[in-house]
Amino acid sequence: MAELAPLQNDSTRYDYDLFVIGAGSGGVRAARTAAAAGARVAIAEDRYLGGTCVNVGCVPKKLYSYAAHFRDSFEDASGFGWRLPAAPEFEWATLRDNKVGEIKRLNRIYDRMLDNAGVRLIHGRARVVDAHTVEVADETISAAKILIAVGGWPWVPTFPGSELTITSNQVFDLDSFPERLLVLGGGYIAVEFASIFNGLGSDTHLVYRGELFLRGFDHEVREFVRDEMVKKGATLRLETNIESIRKVENGLDVTLTNGERLEVDAVLAATGRRPHLAGLGLDKLDVALSNTGHIEVNERFESSVPSILALGDVTGGAELTPVALAEAMHMVQHHFGEIPPSKPLDYHNIATAVFCHPNIGTVGLSEQQAREACGDIRVYTTDFRPMKHTLSGSSERCLMKLIVDDHSDVVVGAHMVGDEAGELIQGIAIAVRAQLTKADFDATIGIHPTGAEEFVTMRTLTRR
Ligand code: NDP
Repeated sequence: MAELAPLQNDSTRYDYDLFVIGAGSGGVRAARTAAAAGARVAIAEDRYLGGTCVNVGCVPKKLYSYAAHFRDSFEDASGFGWRLPAAPEFEWATLRDNKVGEIKRLNRIYDRMLDNAGVRLIHGRARVVDAHTVEVADETISAAKILIAVGGWPWVPTFPGSELTITSNQVFDLDSFPERLLVLGGGYIAVEFASIFNGLGSDTHLVYRGELFLRGFDHEVREFVRDEMVKKGATLRLETNIESIRKVENGLDVTLTNGERLEVDAVLAATGRRPHLAGLGLDKLDVALSNTGHIEVNERFESSVPSILALGDVTGGAELTPVALAEAMHMVQHHFGEIPPSKPLDYHNIATAVFCHPNIGTVGLSEQQAREACGDIRVYTTDFRPMKHTLSGSSERCLMKLIVDDHSDVVVGAHMVGDEAGELIQGIAIAVRAQLTKADFDATIGIHPTGAEEFVTMRTLTRR
């Protein structure tokens, strides 16, 4: 393939400097930032502005998680002297419809942001025709660079009755509340939705094929979450899978591979996501894919066809909105900025939260990973009943954990399970990223009385 002419010479050759396919988190950020850098940008979207995160992911999930937490709050209130006039009742339609209103508001904001940035928005599924051409909504458009930011799509394994399952694309908008719900899977989505629907009052069953969900997370964290979820009433069915689902008069009859049968109103398959490449036409263009089907890119986010760029979930890696946003800004700096970034994007120490109940917040290495990476480590843990629950009567506990490289004293991992763990670990992530030492943590004076102060007062070694 011939080298691309520099951007300033492309303005007459192509209709646009950048054509973005997919107006999700990464695509919109790339389009706006490139336009702000002076590029002529168009973006195509065939579904909803804001992509998975805004429409069927992070945003509605967090709203539903808030909704689910109220059940605990109502129960906690009586110990503080509050008498509720009657047993609280949950109304699914109110939550769902309020959520719809909020998402529409966000869709409009995205629309306005693109418009204000001078990005042309085209509604339709774009197809890449060649290295510089796309077809969308009956138009053929040329661009110096084409960015694929189409994200992922839920994937469901095939078994008898698998077509009766729903995914995270449908679960927010069900016509009626599933009084009995089976969640299949053991990743972020499965544990979050099992917690949410359990909190909202569903009889919730989490079915996971492995020994314990959240594979890859710190083992102690996983065990702690398992115990807390069980205390809150979720039923865990581990080391089993769905064999078949049959529609029956009052719901779905599910048979598990361990022989158990249960009747539920809905089965949510949270069995992973795959790149959403169907119909894009990349197969005709020799765009190299990894063995997981993700688009392979270099540190400039170029695919094997250099004018075709890709970022976000479609490239695999950490499938998280903030990662897609960071990639978008990095990509724009590389291709449209005055000075290219001096270093590749740093994917180390990405903090993340799982909004199960209680939440998980985590950054850096798990104890198991740290043992492999550092050899000698020190582990500090604290597991306590938060002050709030001395009066609420709740048996919910909180876990905090620091993992320290014994040679350098650097804190290489921090983990928490407890109220607002995501909020709290974000600040700790700065310290971990800055490679601060346990001595730095110890020298930090705590804020009293908070749970967070435990992170700077863990003096007693739990184990090596
Ligand atoms: P994950 O890939 O995290 O989890 C998929 C789960 O499905 C795994 O537990 C896997 O089991 C199980 N599974 C896979 N195939 C089968 C099968 N054939 N039968 C039974 N079980 C199966 O995907 P999710 O859908 O949960 O989430 C996708 C991504 O979205 C996450 O990786 C995360 O990056 C992102 N996300 C982030 C959130 C956040 O930041 N809070 C929230 C939600 C999603 P096994 O472990 O054995 O492989």
